[in-house]
Amino acid sequence: MNFKTPRHVIIREEALDDVPQVLKEYGCDSLLIVSDVNVRMLYGVRIEQILLRMNIKPIFINVSTNDRPTLDKMHVELSTLDFDCVAGMGGGRPVDVGKYLAFKLEKPFISIPTSISHDGFASPIVALKDENGNPLSLFTAPPISVIVDLDVISQAPRRLLASGVGDLLGKITSVADARLAAREVGEHVPESALRMAEAAAHIVLENIESIVSFSKKSMTLLAEAGLLAGMSMSIAGSSRPCSGSEHLFSHAIDKLYPGRALHGEQVGVGTIIAAYLHGMDWIRIKQALNAVGAPTSIEDLHMTLDEAVTALLLAPRLRDRYTILHKLSLEDKELREIVLRTVSKAKHQ
Ligand SMILES: [Zn+2]
Repeated sequence: MNFKTPRHVIIREEALDDVPQVLKEYGCDSLLIVSDVNVRMLYGVRIEQILLRMNIKPIFINVSTNDRPTLDKMHVELSTLDFDCVAGMGGGRPVDVGKYLAFKLEKPFISIPTSISHDGFASPIVALKDENGNPLSLFTAPPISVIVDLDVISQAPRRLLASGVGDLLGKITSVADARLAAREVGEHVPESALRMAEAAAHIVLENIESIVSFSKKSMTLLAEAGLLAGMSMSIAGSSRPCSGSEHLFSHAIDKLYPGRALHGEQVGVGTIIAAYLHGMDWIRIKQALNAVGAPTSIEDLHMTLDEAVTALLLAPRLRDRYTILHKLSLEDKELREIVLRTVSKAKHQ
C-alpha cells in the first residue's frame, strides 16, 4: 500500500473560522480560492474577513467550466501569480477544479465544501470534461485538509444534499461490483477500502430518518460518510470502491443525454437497478432515496424508457471495469423489463 489521505479534517459549526489556523500550519500566507459566482456572493466577504484577520491574502477566481483544456490554459496563467496554497470552495465543481489546479501547480489543496452533493470533497478524484466534452475522471491527490462548516452545509439547497445521499448510497453496489470483480476476474481492491466505502453507504442508509431533517447534526453524518468514501478511494488508489455499475449508468446518461439531472441523482437511480441485478435489497434503497426527496425513477431523471435502456446498454462499454452489467450482459428486452420493474412509474406490462 502507498497512499495519501487528508492530514487535517474539521467538521463542525463555524468551521470557516478555522481556515487561517490550518493554512498557517502549512506555512501558507497567501491563498488562491477557487469558487463560483454564487458561492463568492454568499461567502466571499466572510472568508476574506476571516483570512485578513490573520494576514492571509486571498486571490479569488470564479470557475464556470470543468473543461480540461480551458483549465490547462488557466493553470499556465495562474502559475505566474504568487500564492502558497489553493482552496476549492463550493459544491462539486469549484472543489474539483481547485483540486485539479492545485495538483497541476503542485500546491497544497484545502477542500471547503459548501454542500455535499457528491463524494468528491475528500477524495483524490477529479471529474472534468475532455476536449470532446466527454466525462473524464482523473486520480490526482487528496486535499491536505478538509473543512466542513455545518452552518454552511445545512444552508445548501435540499436538492444538492439529496443528490449527495444518492452518490453515497451508490457505494452499496460499487462495493458489490468490486467484490464480484475479485471473485470472477481476480481484481484486487484492499479490503479496508471496500469496508470504508461500505460504511459510508451504511451510515447514510441506517440514519436516513435523521438525514431527512437536513439538520446540522444529520449533516455531520453526511460529511463523515463522504469523508470515508473519499478516503477509501485514496487507499484503493482509484475510484473502484466507490464507482461501479451505478456510476457507469450515470456516465452513460452524461454522454448520451447531458444535463438531465445531477450526478448523485443519476447514481441513486442507477443504484436501485444495480442492487436489483445483484439480488440485494433494492426496495430499501429506493425507499431511502424517496425519503430524502431524491429521484427514484427514470421519469424523475427526465428520461424515457428507450433512453434508459440505451444508457444501460452503453454503460458496460464505457469502461472495462468489471461489474454486474458486464457479468450479466443483458439485452434490450431484459433491460426494458428490469427498468419497468424497478425504476419506472409506467405500468409494468
Ligand atoms: Zn459519484
